Amino acid sequence: MQRKALYPGSFDPFTLGHLDIISRASMFFDEVTIGVATNNKKKNILSLDERLRLASEATAELTNINVVPIDGLVIDYARNHDFRVLLRGIRAANDFEQELEMSQINRSLSLRKHNDAIETIFLMTSPEYSFIRASRVWELLELGGDISALLPDSVSKYLEENNIGYFQKTR
Ligand code: ADP
Repeated sequence: MQRKALYPGSFDPFTLGHLDIISRASMFFDEVTIGVATNNKKKNILSLDERLRLASEATAELTNINVVPIDGLVIDYARNHDFRVLLRGIRAANDFEQELEMSQINRSLSLRKHNDAIETIFLMTSPEYSFIRASRVWELLELGGDISALLPDSVSKYLEENNIGYFQKTR
Protein backbone atom coordinates (compact mmCIF):
# COMPACT_ATOMS: atom_id res chain seq x y z
CA MET A 1 0.00 0.00 0.00
CA GLN A 2 1.24 3.48 -0.84
CA ARG A 3 1.86 5.60 2.24
CA LYS A 4 0.60 9.04 1.47
CA ALA A 5 -0.24 12.10 3.55
CA LEU A 6 -2.32 15.20 2.95
CA TYR A 7 -0.88 18.46 4.33
CA PRO A 8 -3.73 20.98 4.48
CA GLY A 9 -3.37 24.71 5.16
CA SER A 10 -3.81 28.17 3.74
CA PHE A 11 -0.17 28.65 2.69
CA ASP A 12 -0.60 32.42 2.42
CA PRO A 13 2.27 32.50 1.60
CA PHE A 14 4.23 29.24 1.57
CA THR A 15 7.09 29.65 4.11
CA LEU A 16 10.35 27.95 5.04
CA GLY A 17 8.43 26.47 8.01
CA HIS A 18 6.05 24.72 5.61
CA LEU A 19 8.96 23.60 3.43
CA ASP A 20 10.75 22.12 6.46
CA ILE A 21 7.70 20.08 7.51
CA ILE A 22 7.15 18.81 3.97
CA SER A 23 10.78 17.93 3.28
CA ARG A 24 11.00 15.97 6.51
CA ALA A 25 7.69 14.20 5.91
CA SER A 26 8.69 13.36 2.34
CA MET A 27 11.34 11.04 3.78
CA PHE A 28 8.85 8.69 5.39
CA PHE A 29 5.79 9.02 3.14
CA ASP A 30 5.80 7.82 -0.46
CA GLU A 31 3.86 10.90 -1.41
CA VAL A 32 2.90 14.15 0.34
CA THR A 33 0.10 16.27 -1.09
CA ILE A 34 -0.13 19.93 -0.13
CA GLY A 35 -3.82 20.81 0.10
CA VAL A 36 -4.36 24.53 -0.35
CA ALA A 37 -7.67 25.56 1.22
CA THR A 38 -9.86 27.52 -1.17
CA ASN A 39 -12.56 28.65 1.25
CA ASN A 40 -10.44 29.60 4.19
CA LYS A 41 -12.09 31.79 6.80
CA LYS A 42 -8.80 33.65 7.08
CA LYS A 43 -8.64 36.61 4.72
CA ASN A 44 -5.87 35.62 2.40
CA ILE A 45 -3.64 38.18 0.75
CA LEU A 46 -2.67 35.90 -2.14
CA SER A 47 -5.17 34.43 -4.57
CA LEU A 48 -5.69 30.67 -4.69
CA ASP A 49 -3.73 30.47 -7.96
CA GLU A 50 -0.81 32.32 -6.42
CA ARG A 51 -0.81 30.12 -3.30
CA LEU A 52 -0.89 26.97 -5.44
CA ARG A 53 1.86 28.18 -7.74
CA LEU A 54 4.19 29.34 -4.97
CA ALA A 55 3.81 26.04 -3.08
CA SER A 56 4.59 24.11 -6.30
CA GLU A 57 7.62 26.22 -7.15
CA ALA A 58 9.05 26.01 -3.63
CA THR A 59 8.80 22.21 -3.60
CA ALA A 60 9.85 21.64 -7.22
CA GLU A 61 13.07 19.89 -6.19
CA LEU A 62 11.25 17.26 -4.12
CA THR A 63 10.01 14.45 -6.31
CA ASN A 64 7.18 13.03 -4.20
CA ILE A 65 5.20 16.22 -3.54
CA ASN A 66 2.14 17.51 -5.30
CA VAL A 67 -0.12 20.48 -4.75
CA VAL A 68 -3.91 20.57 -5.02
CA PRO A 69 -6.72 22.97 -4.13
CA ILE A 70 -9.14 21.77 -1.44
CA ASP A 71 -12.67 23.03 -1.58
CA GLY A 72 -14.84 22.20 1.43
CA LEU A 73 -14.07 19.83 4.26
CA VAL A 74 -10.58 18.39 4.40
CA ILE A 75 -11.96 15.02 5.56
CA ASP A 76 -14.16 14.80 2.47
CA TYR A 77 -11.22 15.48 0.18
CA ALA A 78 -9.17 12.93 2.10
CA ARG A 79 -11.86 10.28 1.84
CA ASN A 80 -12.46 10.88 -1.87
CA HIS A 81 -8.75 10.61 -2.63
CA ASP A 82 -7.82 7.71 -0.34
CA PHE A 83 -5.86 9.62 2.27
CA ARG A 84 -5.87 8.07 5.75
CA VAL A 85 -3.35 10.52 7.20
CA LEU A 86 -3.29 14.29 7.59
CA LEU A 87 0.02 16.01 8.25
CA ARG A 88 0.33 19.13 10.40
CA GLY A 89 3.16 21.09 12.00
CA ILE A 90 3.40 22.33 15.57
CA ARG A 91 5.42 25.36 16.62
CA ALA A 92 4.48 26.02 20.22
CA ALA A 93 1.93 25.35 22.95
CA ASN A 94 -0.83 27.43 21.41
CA ASP A 95 -0.49 25.52 18.12
CA PHE A 96 -0.76 22.32 20.13
CA GLU A 97 -4.12 23.25 21.66
CA GLN A 98 -5.64 24.24 18.35
CA GLU A 99 -4.18 21.28 16.51
CA LEU A 100 -5.34 18.81 19.15
CA GLU A 101 -8.88 20.11 18.84
CA MET A 102 -8.76 20.13 15.05
CA SER A 103 -7.42 16.58 14.84
CA GLN A 104 -10.15 15.37 17.18
CA ILE A 105 -12.85 17.16 15.22
CA ASN A 106 -11.56 15.68 11.98
CA ARG A 107 -11.38 12.21 13.49
CA SER A 108 -14.89 12.43 14.87
CA LEU A 109 -16.34 13.89 11.65
CA SER A 110 -14.64 11.26 9.58
CA LEU A 111 -15.87 8.44 11.79
CA ARG A 112 -19.44 9.67 11.72
CA LYS A 113 -19.62 10.59 8.09
CA HIS A 114 -17.38 8.01 6.45
CA ASN A 115 -17.10 5.37 9.15
CA ASP A 116 -13.37 5.79 8.87
CA ALA A 117 -10.96 7.31 11.41
CA ILE A 118 -8.61 9.73 9.78
CA GLU A 119 -5.35 10.14 11.68
CA THR A 120 -3.36 13.36 11.99
CA ILE A 121 0.39 13.05 12.25
CA PHE A 122 2.32 15.96 13.70
CA LEU A 123 5.87 17.08 13.15
CA MET A 124 7.42 19.50 15.60
CA THR A 125 8.96 22.57 14.03
CA SER A 126 12.70 22.65 13.59
CA PRO A 127 13.96 25.23 16.11
CA GLU A 128 15.33 27.52 13.40
CA TYR A 129 11.84 27.87 11.91
CA SER A 130 9.78 28.03 15.09
CA PHE A 131 9.19 31.79 14.82
CA ILE A 132 7.84 31.62 11.28
CA ARG A 133 4.16 32.01 10.61
CA ALA A 134 2.58 33.17 7.38
CA SER A 135 0.78 36.15 8.91
CA ARG A 136 4.11 37.45 10.24
CA VAL A 137 5.36 37.79 6.66
CA TRP A 138 2.67 40.38 5.91
CA GLU A 139 3.23 42.24 9.18
CA LEU A 140 6.96 42.47 8.50
CA LEU A 141 6.49 43.58 4.90
CA GLU A 142 4.15 46.34 5.94
CA LEU A 143 6.76 47.61 8.38
CA GLY A 144 9.59 47.32 5.87
CA GLY A 145 11.21 44.29 7.54
CA ASP A 146 13.41 41.78 5.76
CA ILE A 147 11.41 38.64 5.02
CA SER A 148 14.11 36.61 3.29
CA ALA A 149 14.77 34.51 6.42
CA LEU A 150 11.12 33.39 6.45
CA LEU A 151 10.51 32.41 2.85
CA PRO A 152 11.91 30.18 0.12
CA ASP A 153 13.79 32.32 -2.42
CA SER A 154 11.18 31.76 -5.11
CA VAL A 155 8.43 33.12 -2.81
CA SER A 156 10.39 36.23 -1.70
CA LYS A 157 11.24 36.91 -5.32
CA TYR A 158 7.61 36.66 -6.45
CA LEU A 159 6.36 39.01 -3.69
CA GLU A 160 9.09 41.51 -4.39
CA GLU A 161 8.72 41.49 -8.16
CA ASN A 162 4.97 41.89 -7.94
CA ASN A 163 5.04 44.35 -5.08
CA ILE A 164 2.73 42.17 -3.02
CA GLY A 165 2.54 42.88 0.68
CA TYR A 166 4.66 46.00 0.30
CA PHE A 167 1.42 47.70 -0.68
CA GLN A 168 -0.90 45.33 1.12
CA LYS A 169 -3.39 48.05 2.04
CA THR A 170 -4.05 48.97 -1.54
CA ARG A 171 -4.50 45.40 -2.76
P1 ADP B 1 0.34 29.40 9.17
O1 ADP B 1 -0.01 28.68 10.46
O2 ADP B 1 1.81 29.69 8.99
O3 ADP B 1 -0.54 30.57 8.89
P2 ADP B 1 -1.04 27.39 7.59
O4 ADP B 1 -2.39 27.67 8.10
O5 ADP B 1 -0.91 27.36 6.12
O6 ADP B 1 0.10 28.41 8.01
O7 ADP B 1 -0.46 26.10 8.28
C1 ADP B 1 -0.40 24.83 7.74
C2 ADP B 1 0.29 23.92 8.71
O8 ADP B 1 1.69 24.26 8.77
C3 ADP B 1 -0.18 24.02 10.17
O9 ADP B 1 -0.16 22.73 10.74
C4 ADP B 1 0.86 24.89 10.83
O10 ADP B 1 0.95 24.65 12.22
C5 ADP B 1 2.11 24.41 10.09
N1 ADP B 1 3.19 25.38 10.16
C6 ADP B 1 3.18 26.65 9.72
N2 ADP B 1 4.37 27.25 9.96
C7 ADP B 1 5.16 26.33 10.58
C8 ADP B 1 6.50 26.33 11.12
N3 ADP B 1 7.25 27.42 11.08
N4 ADP B 1 6.96 25.18 11.70
C9 ADP B 1 6.18 24.09 11.75
N5 ADP B 1 4.91 24.02 11.29
C10 ADP B 1 4.40 25.13 10.70
